Amino acid sequence: MKAVVVGSGAGGAVAARELQIRGFEVTVLEAGAPFRPFTRRLSWAEPLRRSGVLGEGEIFERLFPALKMRRSSPELILVRGLTVGGSTVLSCGNLVRTDRGLSEIGLNLSPEFDELEAELCPCPVPEEKWSGVTRELFYAAEKLGLNPRATPKAIDLNRCNRCGLCELGCARGARWDAGRFLAQAIDRGSLLRSGTAVAKVAVEKNRVTGVVTDSGEIIGSDVVVLAAGGIGTAQILANSGYKTADRLWADIVVTLAGIRQNSSQLCEPPMAWYAQHEGYILSPYPDILSHYFHKPWRRTRIEDRVGIMVKLADMENGRVGADGNVVKSLTEQDRLRLEAALGQAREVMVKAGIAAPYLTGVANAGHLGGTVPLERTTAASLRPAGLADGLWVADLSLVPRSQGMPTILLTAALALRVARKIV
Ligand SMILES: Cc1cc2nc3c(=O)[nH]c(=O)nc-3n(C[C@H](O)[C@H](O)[C@H](O)COP(=O)(O)OP(=O)(O)OC[C@H]3O[C@@H](n4cnc5c(N)ncnc54)[C@H](O)[C@@H]3O)c2cc1C
Ligand code: SF4
Repeated sequence: MKAVVVGSGAGGAVAARELQIRGFEVTVLEAGAPFRPFTRRLSWAEPLRRSGVLGEGEIFERLFPALKMRRSSPELILVRGLTVGGSTVLSCGNLVRTDRGLSEIGLNLSPEFDELEAELCPCPVPEEKWSGVTRELFYAAEKLGLNPRATPKAIDLNRCNRCGLCELGCARGARWDAGRFLAQAIDRGSLLRSGTAVAKVAVEKNRVTGVVTDSGEIIGSDVVVLAAGGIGTAQILANSGYKTADRLWADIVVTLAGIRQNSSQLCEPPMAWYAQHEGYILSPYPDILSHYFHKPWRRTRIEDRVGIMVKLADMENGRVGADGNVVKSLTEQDRLRLEAALGQAREVMVKAGIAAPYLTGVANAGHLGGTVPLERTTAASLRPAGLADGLWVADLSLVPRSQGMPTILLTAALALRVARKIV
């Protein structure tokens, strides 16, 4: 049987590999180009950054086309990877379980979590390899009773040179990304077509017959698995005449930064530890995005800045149009919860002796889900209501609630379950 998988990120790569193993003839269609990490030498960009020439990232996007940034409201920038490997190639390598909202719909992904963890062996960066300031922040959070713990990561520490730039791609191949699963699928016979954006699905008599690409090419298939992410999958479905949910969530990230001369927080993989609370985490984070594109941060050298990220589970209120336009803003409730969490980050800073002024970075978000949410009635079949026979979704779009936690493992576990259901 032929299967087309649309998208090659956390969901697409897992689904493609599993379907290929189970005997399908798999073609992966990926809108982006093969991934190339950004140059390791960022010092050239410093004068441009301080003068403000880099603007909001338009120039940077031209130099690093895998990273797509877009404002979805005046206060929020959405970030995603449009490339082979999807957003996983921009990740910090954090691999943790999260399943907010799934027990409510009767979905338990523990077997898939177990299986993927056994394969990927996530483990923390040992404390002795953290920067001094990251350790001090950890102890401060501990003293404040915030219960921090080391973050499990899919990073080969023998290869990692602690450049700290995981979000720009790992040039040393130390950090896992979905490209590895994809390579295994290709080794077994899958075909990958990069630079091939899918516009819509082709359906006859309520049965999927393939997809139509942006250039009008029709690619026939018995099964179509959409894994183009929370925005891409919703856009394709809307373009194909399906109603999607105006419930896009994104997990809002805001970093609070203080000052300590020569603390060099960049000399380690980011987010070495995290403190989890209801609907958000705190984690040490230098925030490259705000460093380069956030005006209030321009005066400080990255070596002197110390950041703590708040990653917040936001309200599920975003909308994706058939043209790909996205409207997503922070609600009053998001703002209040964000303020409270940033207050906690501030307490950690003070306790660790990090100097003021404490400045927040730009609000950004890259966990894009919720646009084709599973419900109690559809969780067992894993088939969102109304889809044509043979049409499936296998990415974060299926997850009904925001997480405020890293989402790769969740996406991968769900895609694995979907692929097996297809079989
Ligand atoms: C900067 C950043 C850092 C992150 N760090 C972490 C982390 O450390 N740990 C963690 O757990 N999570 C992290 N995440 C989140 C995680 O990467 C995503 O939640 C996860 O990859 C979602 O998987 P997905 O398959 O839904 O989408 P994606 O991985 O984004 O994959 C979607 C794919 O579809 C392709 N596509 C889109 N439209 C089309 C189309 N029309 N036709 C064909 N292809 C299309 C895209 O190019 C992409 O390859 C991070 C996200 C970002 C942005
Ligand atoms: S910090 Fe390590 S894992 Fe991250 S990009 Fe650098 S070498 Fe790769």
